[in-house]
Amino acid sequence: MAAAVGSSVIPIVNKLQDIFAQLGSSSTIDLPQVAVVGSQSSGKSSVLEALVGRDFLPRGSDICTRRPLVLQLVHCPEKTDGQGDEWGEFLHLPGKRFFDFQEIKKEIETETNKEAGGNKGVSDKQIRLKIFSPNVLNITLVDLPGITKVPVGDQPTDIEARIRTMILSYIKHKTCIILAVSPANADLANSDALQMARVADPDGKCLVLVFMDPLDIMDRGTDARNFLLGNVIPLRLGYVGVVNRSQQDINMNRSIKDALAYEENFFRNHPVYHGLANCCGVPQLAKKLNQILVQHIKTVLPGLKSRVSAQLTSVAKELAAYGDVVESKTGQGAKLLNILAKYCEAFSSLVEGKNEELSTA
Ligand code: GDP
Ligand code: MG
Repeated sequence: MAAAVGSSVIPIVNKLQDIFAQLGSSSTIDLPQVAVVGSQSSGKSSVLEALVGRDFLPRGSDICTRRPLVLQLVHCPEKTDGQGDEWGEFLHLPGKRFFDFQEIKKEIETETNKEAGGNKGVSDKQIRLKIFSPNVLNITLVDLPGITKVPVGDQPTDIEARIRTMILSYIKHKTCIILAVSPANADLANSDALQMARVADPDGKCLVLVFMDPLDIMDRGTDARNFLLGNVIPLRLGYVGVVNRSQQDINMNRSIKDALAYEENFFRNHPVYHGLANCCGVPQLAKKLNQILVQHIKTVLPGLKSRVSAQLTSVAKELAAYGDVVESKTGQGAKLLNILAKYCEAFSSLVEGKNEELSTA
């Protein structure tokens, strides 16, 4: 994946999100994120891995994603000091760099078990992970547990309702871009992903629907073509078809690189998808996501600025009421909000200054 146009704007959003996470008020200001939604085992984690280009997420035919994983992809220049170009860092383990992506997977599993237990339990407490790499776009992705109907292991009887509530808490935000993942061989009209996305976003304005899975093994090729073209259920942001690794590919340790090459070849040579190059394949998905994200940021910026200012004014008032105790909690809050306000300023001048560049994205 190449560095995206607009990549100088998005890191500021990532920083803002970090500050909000530290403030413990991530829910008060909606920042653009991309959340994956769908049934259990529809291929959500596989799509995210393909976007990052590395194996690092717990994946499989059972329930693997059991806590929300907030994944910030940070584009950084290629290094030549032999230390390695790509690494991960968890918010709960500050300063510890994971160069081995299998270790990242293990840490996600350990952290998941810590909060959600070892027996298929689910928790809504986030895991926050940053991936630094020269091969990623600067976007924030959220991997969420999938919708499941029948409780197993330690899951409560109302597991479906709980997971739906958890998913909604992410995708209901106006700024959330919903990546609804639906297998191509399932009837789209019955898709959990599409149904949830519609609830959160009745106008379909922040929706990319990914046809996951057996586009490769699907015998209804013509149907898939019609879906991808939006002829069946039109969506404003449209569809992207992708082919990821099957369970057999995973068992055989097929690399993501090989899988991407296979995907490219598949779409290029398949008569049904001929001429649909702009809505097929993981690289197209990445490109589309980035364009949508930058557009979103431009739209939400004025609101974001005024909310931060309003919060700042109210905290400043509260602080004044206490007198001059700068190290109080409120004082620290005011300082942080001040920093945020400055970020917003810098951010808006960046966006305004980059209009031309962004519009050619
Ligand atoms: P999640 O529960 O939605 O996160 O789904 P996972 O990413 O864990 O994938 C569930 C299973 O579906 C795994 O065994 C994957 O190998 C398989 N899978 C995912 N994407 C594809 C695909 O495009 N084609 C095929 N054949 N299998 C896939
Ligand atoms: Mg998953």
